[in-house]
Amino acid sequence: MLEVITVIDQINAILPQTQCRKCGFQGCRPYAEAIASGLADINQCPPGGDLGIGELARLLNIDPKPLNPTFGEHKPKQVAFIIEDACIGCVKCIAVCPVDAILGAAKFMHTVIASECTGCELCIAPCPVDCIVMQPVSMTIVHQGHIDKSAASQLAKKRYEARCLRKEKESEEKAERAKQKKAKLGMLKKAP
Ligand code: SF4
Ligand code: SF4
Ligand code: SF4
Repeated sequence: MLEVITVIDQINAILPQTQCRKCGFQGCRPYAEAIASGLADINQCPPGGDLGIGELARLLNIDPKPLNPTFGEHKPKQVAFIIEDACIGCVKCIAVCPVDAILGAAKFMHTVIASECTGCELCIAPCPVDCIVMQPVSMTIVHQGHIDKSAASQLAKKRYEARCLRKEKESEEKAERAKQKKAKLGMLKKAP
């Protein structure tokens, strides 16, 4: 089957796939859709920084502009690290991680798979005991050698898309269960 590459795909391919929502959208793809439809400007992605803005400008054949500071500042890539002794196993971080980079179960300590963490920082705020800290990539992934930026963003994209599909399926299943429960209750009420 012929694969159709849209302008949204091309914009999304430039975005860093951090999935941090700092652009004001729910992830890189929704931001790409908003740029393509003229609802968002090209300078709203802090992780992509000026380099990313330049690439977007070239793709869209428009002038580049500086990163809009309202959306945050460009920083070197970091990854999350959990201070495991302090973790109470509440799973709140797992619930928000856009790329499923956190391992753990209820009431057990959690840990971040550093090679899969995009550094989005979304897990920091929900942690009730403040045991998640961000660390520079070089300090954390010292034994993993050179990180291929493009491979890392492809991996993040795949993991984000897989998570979105899973969440969509879960909410469909939930809606179906609610529908069946409602139908069952209706039948019970009708019964003499
Ligand atoms: S990396 Fe963050 S700010 Fe940039 S497009 Fe993706 S979600 Fe938006
Ligand atoms: S572990 Fe935290 S910082 Fe890393 S991707 Fe998940 S939510 Fe983002
Ligand atoms: S949110 Fe914090 S305390 Fe809760 S599981 Fe994650 S790291 Fe542990």
